[in-house]
Amino acid sequence: MDLQTPLSNLTGIGPGLLYKLSRLNLNTALDLIYHFPFRYDDFSESTTIKDAQLGQVVTLRGEIWSIKNIYTRSRKILTQALFNDGTSPIELTWFNQSWLIKQIAVGDRLQVSGKLSKYKSKISIMMPRWEKIADELRSHIVSGNTLHTGRLVPIYPETEGLTSKWVRTKIDQLLPQVLNQIQDPLPDFIRDKMLPSSDAIQKIHYPKDWEDVEKSRERLGFDELFFISLATQKIRRQWRKKPTVKPLKINQNTLGKFIQKLPFQLTSAQKKVVEETVKDLKKDEPMNRLIQGEVGSGKTVVATIISYLMHLNKLKTLFMAPTEILAFQHFETISNLLEPFGIKVGIYTGSKKDARNADVIIGTHALLSKKLDTPDTGLVIIDEQQRFGVDQRSLLRNSAKTPHFLTMTATPIPRTIALTLYGDLDISIIDELPKERLKIKTFVVPSKKRADAYKFIEKKVKEGDQVYIITPLIELSESLQSAKAATEEYKRLQKDIFPNLSLGLLHGRLKSKEKEEVMKKFKNGDIDILVSTSVVEVGVDISNATIMVIESAERFGLAQLHQLRGRVGRGKKQSFCLLFSENKDAEGRLKNLEKINDGLKLAELDLKIRGSGEIFGARQSGRFEFKIASFSDLELVEKTKAAATNLLNLDPSLDKHPLIAAKLQKLATNVMPD
Ligand code: ADP
Ligand code: MG
Repeated sequence: MDLQTPLSNLTGIGPGLLYKLSRLNLNTALDLIYHFPFRYDDFSESTTIKDAQLGQVVTLRGEIWSIKNIYTRSRKILTQALFNDGTSPIELTWFNQSWLIKQIAVGDRLQVSGKLSKYKSKISIMMPRWEKIADELRSHIVSGNTLHTGRLVPIYPETEGLTSKWVRTKIDQLLPQVLNQIQDPLPDFIRDKMLPSSDAIQKIHYPKDWEDVEKSRERLGFDELFFISLATQKIRRQWRKKPTVKPLKINQNTLGKFIQKLPFQLTSAQKKVVEETVKDLKKDEPMNRLIQGEVGSGKTVVATIISYLMHLNKLKTLFMAPTEILAFQHFETISNLLEPFGIKVGIYTGSKKDARNADVIIGTHALLSKKLDTPDTGLVIIDEQQRFGVDQRSLLRNSAKTPHFLTMTATPIPRTIALTLYGDLDISIIDELPKERLKIKTFVVPSKKRADAYKFIEKKVKEGDQVYIITPLIELSESLQSAKAATEEYKRLQKDIFPNLSLGLLHGRLKSKEKEEVMKKFKNGDIDILVSTSVVEVGVDISNATIMVIESAERFGLAQLHQLRGRVGRGKKQSFCLLFSENKDAEGRLKNLEKINDGLKLAELDLKIRGSGEIFGARQSGRFEFKIASFSDLELVEKTKAAATNLLNLDPSLDKHPLIAAKLQKLATNVMPD
């Protein structure tokens, strides 16, 4: 038995269980011992009935004196047991669990926990959690704990029909056989006072006390963030060593003149970001910079300025947008800005390829095609893309020298996440919107106000405004189902609510030609209300659209909602965002959007309320779900980052730390953005 032994080799695991385990990504012995409890039941301090008070949550140990099912007049089944811990008998009552009488017999010793209350004038625990003490005893082998000294019982996530009890028993069998094979990858100067790996693993499953829990979580959480930080920093160092295009010559005067001729004045945040980028371009190492700026903060024009500088240095720019609609929109905007300067702008998408002699080529993923031969590419811009690693690598293949990379995103990235996951990037932030932009008025709309909201929308449309209605996020991806839901909502609204208005429909299942057609109509004002799924477009710029309606808003993260509402409020008119939600519990969370208008603050809130899955949106969720560490832990993030820097300074190639190198290798194939 070793750490790589497949779980199928363990006794008592049949195909059914194996399937469930594999769905949880548990395939080997190693996986199982890295399946950590998410909490512990503290049975270490049990009381007695005599000492306990009504209303108190207690853990008691005692014996079952009787147990029976009772059928009530309302046809419910109650299971009632008489339970005695040796001080005073009480009743245990369960609803609708008639099978319990097959599991619990008179004379069984049980550990039960729950709240002491009075039921029909008798002292009872309703729906107690219970465990047979004999079972508990068997799973104590590793800890050496006895029943009577009490313990913290690990509780594992009970998903896919795997019970906590089952996991506990298996880990108990497995751990003693493999524990001595766990080698600690961390050198002493990094591990410092933390537990060695094997101790941490043992203690997280079998803590003696809360201090054990804390110490093992400290160590295992450290590892989770440390290796990611190490990976991103290593990539960054390698990137810097790549041969790049020659350092750019930049004439401040020419640059200044170009900026003056823009149709508007740059915000100071835009100016700052241009400066930061210019500094990079003067170096003889390739730039790898991320520009983060709210929707509407004006990232496109910054990208345009940089492409202009490329042109002056006789280098081409490739500008990659996530969708055709956006590519065409950018093509229009950027052509308008650059053609007066005699710069040819080309387009290169699945359906339109016109890039001959172009200095700046706007396109979609089609830009990655080998057919597009652009050896003198100096700059690659990737807009609104999260998984840009893939694109970077393919674009590198096309160039003789490593081009500069500029990535742009409206996703607000909390600082702790940026430090860890984006450690290989330099980050510029546009933290200011162009002036004269009105704040979007946002309202959480409960169901009883829905009819009023529709009236308001109709009134606004009659005044000439346009509206987006975003239908619920149904699955993680743009699925057939969400396309269907959008279609149904579109039909309902057109037929029952707005029969006199012109509605359009947009979802991911439409062909790109159809999408384009719909967007064109919306842009031209032929469509009043555009019903759309949430994942179709991020950056479409239609200044006449002033109302954003989001259905089932509770299904979205706050930062995501903020990005969606950013599609309105681009013109000079007052814009509105209406968040429809039938879910009362979500109201408090959603109301934050009425008050807060800062995407980064909302992302930080998401991080606190719902964890990091939200930040990356549906497409990315699950990717960086840590078992223990949390991105909201700034101290840990900083500590792991410093440790990674430290190690790379001493051993840049990690040759002297083969265990760490091996772990990184594995991480690169499993977790990191590819
Ligand atoms: P995003 O950052 O979301 O990509 P865009 O680049 O699409 O934003 O810009 C949104 C709108 O704001 C565009 O219509 C653009 O012309 C305009 N804009 C950009 N910068 C400024 C500015 N400094 N002053 C006024 N309007 C601006
Ligand atoms: Mg944009």
